[in-house]
Amino acid sequence: MMFKNLPVLGRSIKRSLKKTCCEPPKKEIIAEEIERPSHQARAYKRGEWRPYSPFKPQGKIEWTMARLDDLLNWGRKGSLWPMTFGLACCAVEMMHIAAPRYDMDRYGVVFRASPKQTDVIIVAGTVTNKMAVAFRRVYDQMPEPKWVISMGSCANGGGYYHYSYAVVRGCDRLIPVDIYVPGCPPTAEALMYGVLMLQRKVKRANGVQMWYRKIWSHKHRVGF
Ligand code: SF4
Repeated sequence: MMFKNLPVLGRSIKRSLKKTCCEPPKKEIIAEEIERPSHQARAYKRGEWRPYSPFKPQGKIEWTMARLDDLLNWGRKGSLWPMTFGLACCAVEMMHIAAPRYDMDRYGVVFRASPKQTDVIIVAGTVTNKMAVAFRRVYDQMPEPKWVISMGSCANGGGYYHYSYAVVRGCDRLIPVDIYVPGCPPTAEALMYGVLMLQRKVKRANGVQMWYRKIWSHKHRVGF
């Protein structure tokens, strides 16, 4: 009985040996080996030209709408006026970016004291329950379009005071947030990067194109 099964056993051993010895070993994919465009590859090279507009319109009318969007976005991204809204220690870092070392005026970021003159609110600090009402009122007084940068762990999710009875666990429970800047406190450079990311977001807004598509689809009764 034992000897009867010997040829079968031999064949299976042979097969398994073939598999292990002759087949090329499967290569493990290591995270570092995945090809990603490096920072240097993404950076502009000398003399390189890239289109300014992120839109690729089809047709003359869409092209016109895209250019109108570009014009509006160019104006908006170059004049982001933030509300002076420091709530806690993060506000000190926020003050740094307004100071000469970082000089955010060169990006058109000019702090204003009235919500009626602002586009952005930088929530810099811990939002307490007591402050929540005033915070929401200030946001509501800002004219459209408006954006929100949540600065620091406290504004992002309560931070150190997450389990406190008196603190709101993230300002996004009160208002919609566009950019989150992590850290406790985030450095002035981190906030500056957040502002640049917001500029990038503003540059991609396509309000005019959407408006045109809406009226066009309504006229032709087509749903997108
Ligand atoms: S995140 Fe840190 S630095 Fe910023 S307000 Fe909270 S405790 Fe202060």
